[in-house]
Amino acid sequence: AEEVGGGDKEVVRNYFNNSGFQRWKKIYGETDDVNKVQLDIRLGHSKTVENVMQMLTDDGSLKGVTVCDAGCGTGCLAIPLAKEGALVSASDISAAMVAEAEKQAKEQLAASNGDIAPVMPKFEVKDLESLDGKYDTVVCLDVLIHYPQNKADGMIAHLASLAEKRLILSFAPKTFYYDLLKRIGELFPGPSKATRAYLHAEADVERALNKVGWKIRKRGLITTQFYFARLVEAVPA
Ligand code: SAM
Repeated sequence: AEEVGGGDKEVVRNYFNNSGFQRWKKIYGETDDVNKVQLDIRLGHSKTVENVMQMLTDDGSLKGVTVCDAGCGTGCLAIPLAKEGALVSASDISAAMVAEAEKQAKEQLAASNGDIAPVMPKFEVKDLESLDGKYDTVVCLDVLIHYPQNKADGMIAHLASLAEKRLILSFAPKTFYYDLLKRIGELFPGPSKATRAYLHAEADVERALNKVGWKIRKRGLITTQFYFARLVEAVPA
């Protein structure tokens, strides 16, 4: 899946509409038909979502705050955001993912009986590069892993241009240990590993943010046995 005329994106779209959709729907879901590795990734990812919700709610109420969830997947973040009263625009390059997120939101938000009346997120099939508009907060979780740094730079710049106050990103950090794990993984590719995983050095992500006038305000690291994510919150410098 090397880049040939933007080939990465087509491969990723195709993957997340087919085998990747089946695989990740299970990981992000609640059913018990997952193996040990998938269960570990589910746990790690849910910690990332919790961390993001904490970061955002620590900053004040989300009621009426506009949030763009770029690459929303099955809605793991969009739904809890809506429960907090945020006005969520959730989009994904995969139509299958967006349909699943919408289904989940309808089920979970109808049953929601908290103090705050949730607003149904606006779901859209769109790659993040073609998103427009302005949002108080833009969040993009575990999406950069599908793109090499030279592409990620442009994606980060575009996401920052949509955000007025905050941009939250998570990515797989390029550390020696994880680099090693990944190389070992590449020697034994499983049948479901249809896409390449790209790791990003925190310094490269920070440079991409600085270049467009943003600075990192908070950092987090989420690790389980098989899941690694660096979480950064950036604000205008
Ligand atoms: N952000 C979600 C979460 O954390 O629950 C989903 C993460 S999943 C590993 C990656 C998602 O990014 C997939 O749903 C995929 O379709 C989406 N994606 C990949 N490339 C994208 C792009 N260029 N624009 C928008 N979405 C993209």
